[in-house]
Amino acid sequence: MYRCPSCKKEYPLEEKIFRCRCGSYLLVESPGVFPLAALETRDLSIWRYREAYGLPPGTEAVSLGEGTTPLVERTMDGERVRFKLDCLLPSGSFKDRGASVLVSLARRIGVRELVEDSSGNAGAAMAAYSTAAGIRCRIFAPDSTPPGKLVQARLCGAQVVRVPGPRQAASDAVLAAAEKSYYASHLWNPFFIQGHMSAAFELWEQLSRSLPPAVVVPLGSGGYLEGIHRGFRLLVSAGYARALPKIYGVQAAVCDPLHRAFQAGLADFVPVEARAGVAEGIAVSRPPRAREVLACLRESGGRSLSVSEEEIIAAHRRLLASGLYVEPTSATALAGLARLSREEREGAVIFLSGHGLKASEKLAALYPA
Ligand SMILES: [Zn+2]
Repeated sequence: MYRCPSCKKEYPLEEKIFRCRCGSYLLVESPGVFPLAALETRDLSIWRYREAYGLPPGTEAVSLGEGTTPLVERTMDGERVRFKLDCLLPSGSFKDRGASVLVSLARRIGVRELVEDSSGNAGAAMAAYSTAAGIRCRIFAPDSTPPGKLVQARLCGAQVVRVPGPRQAASDAVLAAAEKSYYASHLWNPFFIQGHMSAAFELWEQLSRSLPPAVVVPLGSGGYLEGIHRGFRLLVSAGYARALPKIYGVQAAVCDPLHRAFQAGLADFVPVEARAGVAEGIAVSRPPRAREVLACLRESGGRSLSVSEEEIIAAHRRLLASGLYVEPTSATALAGLARLSREEREGAVIFLSGHGLKASEKLAALYPA
């Protein structure tokens, strides 16, 4: 069942909904964790943890082999730092974890066409998995979006619908289309979040079935953070791990509605102007699942951070100098690490969310020859 945390209404998983009729986001509960014995025989995709996602019975995986991304250690300024390379998923970003699970659900409940409104990594991931599932995918984007940003989604089979006017016009258009189609929203849909739990499970396996003391993640809408925390929580409640890692969520200062809320002790985001800096992938001014994200962050015992454009670029240069070619958005996590105390940093794992090859045009402009 879907459950609304606000009005407590429940919906069967067969319903083609993305939020509650009261306007709130929805939750799904995992019925339990995966059996340990199954890990011996299953392949290395995120589907080795399939029981944990809470999908309806009979759901078949739509998989492109996503999962078990490398955990690597690099030495930076004399300090050992560990990185989880979620930039190495099939479409080049962590969004494949959510897209694989959400598109599998969509096929299970008979969706023939879905709509989405991301012109970035989520759009590319939804396009790839929809095509793999034989589902028609339409991506709504503002007319002003550079063609290069949409090329991956378009070539992976999505129909791109360009909407004239401001960004809000594209958001309105996708909501109108959602009346007749399935809105596979990476921002709203709880099954997209469920897929991100796999990152937590993999980390636990890669650390000999234990959890690190802390992780650092880029923080935009907060879906990644929420999914990873839910994964950790499931491992602890199943007795597979002892303690929840502290999560440090890092926003860019040009757009930090969750950081402001965390600092002020508020339950929901603080509205900010929609501004995208160098970390455009996490420029989300009105994150719809903010209440849940903030609750997860607080439960983990970690905190939010807000870093400047200069700090992000400096961190990006350090990653490049280590041979890690990632999107600037990914570098926010390393910029956040630099802000932590030595004690907080100890044993932390940094999540790198998107590949540098996704942002060639932007990187060429950022670092002219
Ligand atoms: Zn509700």
